[in-house]
Amino acid sequence: MSKLHLITYGCQMNEYDSERVAGLLKQERYELTDRPEEADLILVNTCSIRERAEDKVYSQLGVLRHLKRRRPDLVIGVMGCMAQLQKGRIQDRAPHVDLVFGSPAIARVAELVERARQGRGPVLETGEGALVKIAARPDGGQRLKAFVTVMEGCEKYCTFCVVPTTRGRERSHAPEVVVEEIRSLAEVGCREVTLLGQTVNAYGRDLSPPTDLAALLEQVGAIDGIERIRFTTSNPYNLTSRLIRAIRDVPKVCEYLHLPLQSGSDRVLERMNRGYTRARYLELIAELQETVPDLALSTDLIVGFPGETDEDFAQTVEMVERIGYDNVFAFRYSRRPGTPAALMDDQVPDEVKAERNRLILEAAGRVAAARSLRLEGRVMEVLVDGVSRKSEGEMAGRTRCNRVVNFDAAGRDLLGRVVPVRIVRALPHSLRGELIEDPEAGDRFPAGAAMAARLA
Ligand code: SAM
Repeated sequence: MSKLHLITYGCQMNEYDSERVAGLLKQERYELTDRPEEADLILVNTCSIRERAEDKVYSQLGVLRHLKRRRPDLVIGVMGCMAQLQKGRIQDRAPHVDLVFGSPAIARVAELVERARQGRGPVLETGEGALVKIAARPDGGQRLKAFVTVMEGCEKYCTFCVVPTTRGRERSHAPEVVVEEIRSLAEVGCREVTLLGQTVNAYGRDLSPPTDLAALLEQVGAIDGIERIRFTTSNPYNLTSRLIRAIRDVPKVCEYLHLPLQSGSDRVLERMNRGYTRARYLELIAELQETVPDLALSTDLIVGFPGETDEDFAQTVEMVERIGYDNVFAFRYSRRPGTPAALMDDQVPDEVKAERNRLILEAAGRVAAARSLRLEGRVMEVLVDGVSRKSEGEMAGRTRCNRVVNFDAAGRDLLGRVVPVRIVRALPHSLRGELIEDPEAGDRFPAGAAMAARLA
């Protein structure tokens, strides 16, 4: 057996891709190792979304150079978005890298690694490729929760974003292929799936016949063994009433939606080419909250986009307070080569971005604390997915609204079960709960609608 060390940066889709690569290479007799110094092959799966993500990769490659010096037969590869964006420039800056390949070439990873191993010059594969569903997983897929990519690419062309360049145009996997993958995950114990796509709610438009995410949710909802379904990332532009109703009507779909706002200012939204206004976004929130009471919302925000004034920024803060997000991911605008915003001449200074980032996180923290507080005293379904990080002997899980709950399981192993827990305290980053029922009473706790009915 040869040894593979995988380093993954970036989004969930990268995690999913890394798993596929490990699965494919396992078929070629590569087993995973945590220790880079004993690896025969090191692959770095990269992210380009912000400059800082790329800097991390280059500094990682700097560390790996020392290993390569000691062991010239070690093969080092860079894969993913940075490979697709920077192409040969990676090997110019890090000549010890033997192999660079983008996500369209993942299905051919074994052949590419073999070429690199034979040392016939640096291997570079960064073209477009057909969308292929790869079922291989290094461990047979045994896990409680899994990501499942349902579509690739993005055609929104937000002026700040490299994704259309790194991941190409929108391509959806056929529903039967997705369903088959999830069915096989359920058979080996998976209880929760997160459907992934850069604009997941544009799913299916490109298929023939066309379909949509609402229809896919229904099909996934019918798979035995799966108890929870999440999906990300949704774009407000493609959010339909049909999808909003599916969140309400498909019992396994969790009451949680990540809906990037990016900015609360119409002027900035227009310059970002987001395709919606602040009023339209608020209309969607109203429809969501009316259709799915208790829906938890999270969002992405960019601070310091070119030309963003104090007034624009104040409008973003105001939206955070008005909407009451459960969670906010705030990013300082990062100038990405090849994007229209990188060429805008009214770039915002770094100190202003840093200050706005601090202020937005402060506002988001206040809002999230108030949202958490309202959960105190409620009984919530928790899918137990591990032991508590805080205290030994305790178990941890997540609510349907994606909050972490720690509770005393009285020494019982509840891993993989959905259990009712009363929330006794809201802490800044998690909830404390109390198990309210004897888990030995049944073989398995009921899930979804059945549980909700019992608790009502
Ligand atoms: N496709 C989704 C959308 O546009 O709604 C989001 C996907 S992106 C991988 C995750 C987040 O990174 C974006 O929502 C945005 O907030 C942030 N992001 C993207 N490009 C950025 C940039 N150039 N600078 C700072 N943040 C950026």
